[in-house]
Amino acid sequence: MSLKEKLNVVEENICRACQRAGRDRKDVTLIAVSKTKPVWMLKEVYDLGICQFGENKVQELMDKYSVLPPDINWHMIGHLQRNKVKYIIDKAALIHSVDSLRLADMIEAEAAKRQITVNVLLEVNIAREETKYGLMPEEVIRTAESFANYKNICVQGLMTIAPFVENPEENRVHFANLHKLSVDIAKKNIDNVNMSVLSMGMTNDYEVAIEEGATHVRVGTGIFGERVYKSI
Ligand SMILES: *Cc1c(COP(=O)(O)O)cnc(C)c1O
Repeated sequence: MSLKEKLNVVEENICRACQRAGRDRKDVTLIAVSKTKPVWMLKEVYDLGICQFGENKVQELMDKYSVLPPDINWHMIGHLQRNKVKYIIDKAALIHSVDSLRLADMIEAEAAKRQITVNVLLEVNIAREETKYGLMPEEVIRTAESFANYKNICVQGLMTIAPFVENPEENRVHFANLHKLSVDIAKKNIDNVNMSVLSMGMTNDYEVAIEEGATHVRVGTGIFGERVYKSI
């Protein structure tokens, strides 16, 4: 299948999931996760109308940012080291992977220097997997409350990377739990914190995620095909 055909399949699946859930298609944003993929492929997908791209490495995001059209929204979806915040702070439209107040402090400091406001999501380890980054579910409300003190960060919602499962139905409970958590936080009316974004769902499970309230789905393989990681 061509990139165009693969993108069409994803688009159709998103539309059908929205219909099943009684949701409007325009309330779900498709992020094309382009990590490891060459610039020409991103350009082709961009020319097909996609303006949201997700990358998980700072260097790769910067490289692609510098050669692709300026109206692209770049999503930083990978673990972010504090010493790299300065490179992407003015390039990422949304940082999905804020998982500690130490990282938030660094984002605040760099944002203050540039007098900008940075949009972030809190990453939640919703299934409590030992190998995953993210705040534990019980820490999220307390952490969100701390963001009332920041002046240059706006929390726009929550993000999670669900477990790798064969049957996407197994992740439904995790998506539902993340949604519940976001509703609980929204009720608290914390300064600088709103819960308009729920970033959940990848190639294997984005349809279930949409049924459970995802506003942003991050699809890589489904659009670009399998990733090949070069061995060193
Ligand atoms: C790689 C990645 C994705 C996309 O994964 P696919 O299974 O290829 O769709 C989504 N989110 C994050 C955080 C990723 O690192």
